[in-house]
Amino acid sequence: MTTSFGQSTVLGYPRIGAHREWKKAVEAYWAGTLDATGLEDLAAGLRAEVWRTLRDARLDAIPSNTFSYYDHMLDTAVAVGAVPRRFARLGLGQLDTYFAMARGVDAAPALELTKWFDTNYHYLVPEIDPDTVFAADPAKALSEYAQARDLGITTRPVLVGPATFLLLAKGEDPFARLDDLVDTYARILTTLADAGVAWVQLDEPAYVADRTTAEIDGLRHAYRRLGELPHRPRIFVATYFGDLGDALPALLDTPVEAIGLDLVAGAGNLRRLAAAGPLRGKTVVAGLVDGRNIWRTDLRAAVAAGATVAGLADHVAVSTSCSLLHVPVDLSAETHLDPELSTRLAFARQKVDEVVLLGRALRDGTTSLPAPLPPAPPAWRHDDVRGRLAALRPTDRHRGDYAERAARQQERLGLPDLPTTTIGSFPQTAELRRARAAHRAGTLDDAGYTQRMRAEVEQVIRLQERLGLDVLVHGEPERNDMVQYFGEQLDGFAATTHGWVQSYGSRCVRPPIIHGDVARPVPMTVAWSTYAQSLTDRPVKGMLTGPVTILAWSFVRTDQPLADTADQVALALRDECRDLEAAGIRIIQVDEPALRETLPLRRADQKAYLEWAVGAFRLATSGVADDTQIHTHLCYSEFGEVITAIDALDADVTSIEASRSKMEILDDLAAIGYRRGVGPGVWDIHSPRVPPHHEVVDALRRAVAAVPARRLWVNPDCGLKTRTYPEVEASLRHLVAAAAEVRAS
Ligand code: GLN
Ligand code: ZN
Repeated sequence: MTTSFGQSTVLGYPRIGAHREWKKAVEAYWAGTLDATGLEDLAAGLRAEVWRTLRDARLDAIPSNTFSYYDHMLDTAVAVGAVPRRFARLGLGQLDTYFAMARGVDAAPALELTKWFDTNYHYLVPEIDPDTVFAADPAKALSEYAQARDLGITTRPVLVGPATFLLLAKGEDPFARLDDLVDTYARILTTLADAGVAWVQLDEPAYVADRTTAEIDGLRHAYRRLGELPHRPRIFVATYFGDLGDALPALLDTPVEAIGLDLVAGAGNLRRLAAAGPLRGKTVVAGLVDGRNIWRTDLRAAVAAGATVAGLADHVAVSTSCSLLHVPVDLSAETHLDPELSTRLAFARQKVDEVVLLGRALRDGTTSLPAPLPPAPPAWRHDDVRGRLAALRPTDRHRGDYAERAARQQERLGLPDLPTTTIGSFPQTAELRRARAAHRAGTLDDAGYTQRMRAEVEQVIRLQERLGLDVLVHGEPERNDMVQYFGEQLDGFAATTHGWVQSYGSRCVRPPIIHGDVARPVPMTVAWSTYAQSLTDRPVKGMLTGPVTILAWSFVRTDQPLADTADQVALALRDECRDLEAAGIRIIQVDEPALRETLPLRRADQKAYLEWAVGAFRLATSGVADDTQIHTHLCYSEFGEVITAIDALDADVTSIEASRSKMEILDDLAAIGYRRGVGPGVWDIHSPRVPPHHEVVDALRRAVAAVPARRLWVNPDCGLKTRTYPEVEASLRHLVAAAAEVRAS
C-alpha cells in the first residue's frame, strides 16, 4: 500500500526550540524589536529543524502544523474562521489579529486561557455562538506542508478535530454547531488533498473524558461524514490522555483509516480494542511511549503491548502517547545531571528514538532492545522516610475539632472581623531578579544575597504595616518559583538546566524531577519567616507549597503510587510546619492551587485521587497545635467540582480566586455547609487594573451576605509577584479601606 501509515510516528513535537528560541523571538516581536519577516524566518527555521530531526531519526510518519505562533487551539480557530468580531473589527493584519486574540488589546480583551485537559499547558478557548460564521482557512497547514515538502520531507498535517474543538469552546451551545463545522473541515480536507496531502491527523482528546451519548453520536456522525468525502486525505484520529471508553467503538464504526490510542494513560484502551473484535482495514497507532513524563520507556513491556495490538488490527504503528509538547526538548543538553539519573531519562528527542526502535521491533520481531535499567541507586532511598510512611495512622491526618480550634486561634490572634491579608508574594522587581541572577552566576555571594533579600522583606513588612493589613507576609522575594524553590531544598528532587516546557504562549516552565524518596535535610523557610516576624507584632504567615501542587508541577517517579510520593512530600512539609510553629509563627499557609487541575478526567477515577490528595494535605498540616492557624490558597481553576474536597482539607481558612466569577464560590461553599474561614479574592491580580474602592466594597457586601463576617477574610485573588508596586499599594489601600467600611456597617 503506497498510502500505508508507516511504522512509527509522534503526535507532535516541542515547538519552542532547543534553547527557547521561539520565546525570545516572539517576545522581541511583541516588543517591536523584531519584524514580522524576522519572526517568520525564525519560525521556518525551527520547523525545518524539527522535521530534519525527525527524519534523521528515521521516524516514518512526520507531523506538520504542530508548530504554533501561540497555541494550537487558536490555530484551529483561525483555520475554521472562528475569529470573534471584536478582533476582526480591529482591522489588523493576520499576524496581529492572531496575537490580539491571544493576548488582548485595549479595545478587545483576549480569549480566555485555560488548562489543556489535566496538563500544565494552557490553550485559548474559542468563542462559538449560533451566529459564528465558519470559513475554511487552511493556509497555515498548507504552507507548513509545502515548506516540508520543499525540504524533501512528506508530512501529515495536524489539526484539532471538530468535535473536540467545539467541546472545548465556550459560547451558547457550541456543540450544536458540529454539522456546520464538519462542512468546514470537509473543505479543509479537500483542499489538503488537492495539495497532495496523503494523511491528516485530527486530534479528539476530549473523548477520554466522560461524554454524553449525544456527544459520542456526534463524533461518529462527524467522522462518517468526513470519511465519506470523495476526495480527501486518509484520516488519522488521534486521542490521548486516557481511555476512550464508549467513544472507541463509535470511532471504529466510521470509515477513518487510523485511530490513535494512549496506551500509557489509557490502560483500558487495550481491553476495549480486544472487545471490538478484529479491525479490518484499520491502522491502530499505539501510544506506547509516554509523552507527558520524562522516564525512559520499558521497551520490553511496550513491545509486548504493541504485539497484543498487532493481533487485533490490520496494521499497528507505534507512537508517543500524546504530543511531545509536554516534555523538554533534548536530554543531551543536560550536562549537570547525576549520570544515575540521566541514564533513566528520555526527553522529546530521545523518545523519538524509542518510538523508532519499537516500530522496528514490532515489524521485524528481531531488533535487539537495550537492556532494562538496573534498580534505582540505594542513595535515592530513605529508609527513615519509608519507615515513617509505613507507621502512619489515620490520626496523623486529623486535628482537633474545628470550632474549638477556631476559638483558641482567635484568642491567640485577636483579629478583627474581615481580617485583611495577601496571598504571599509581593512584586518580583527587576532588581530582585538581577540579584538572583547575580547570585546564581556567583558574582553576588551568599551573604550579599541574603542581605539583599532581607532588606526586601523588611520593606514589604513596613509597607504592609503602613497600609494597615492585619495578617502580614514576608513577600517571597527569595523564591524563583513556588515549586522549584522547594525542589531545590528537598532530597529526591533534581533540577534541569534546559528542561523547559511550554506552559502557554511564550511562557515556559522548568519542572523539577522527583526521582527518589523525598526528605528534608534542613528547614526550608523558617529563617525567612522568623526574620519577617521579628520585625512586627502583627502575625506573619508562614508560606509553603502543598504536596499536590508540588507533584502537579514536577515530573514524578512512576515506580510507586503517586499517593506515596505525595505523602513523602507531605511529611517534609509537616516537619516544616512544626519548625515554623516552634519558631513562633502563628499562621501557616499551604498553597494548593493545583488541587483541581490534576483531577482525573473521568469521574470514576476522581474519588481515589481526591482521597490521596486531601490525605496528603492533611498529613502536611495536621502536626501543629490547635491554636496554630492553617490557611490554604486555591486558584487557576473553577473549584465547584471539588467543593467537598476543599472542606475535607480541614484548613482553618481558605483563600480562593473569586473576583472574576463574582463570588459564586461562596454559594457553592454554603451549599455544602462549609463553616470554616474563607477569603474570596476581591481583586483580580491577573490584570494591571486597580480595583476601585466601591468595587471592593460591593464584592465584600456580596460576600457578607453569603458568609458571616466573623469567618470572612479580605484578600486578593492570588499572589502579587507579577504586579508593580504602584498597583499593589493603590489596590491594597482600597482593600483595607473597603474592609473597614463593611466592618463598620
Ligand atoms: N503564595 C504564592 C504567591 O503568593 C501562591 C501562588 C499561587 O497560588 N499560584 O505567589
Ligand atoms: Zn494563587
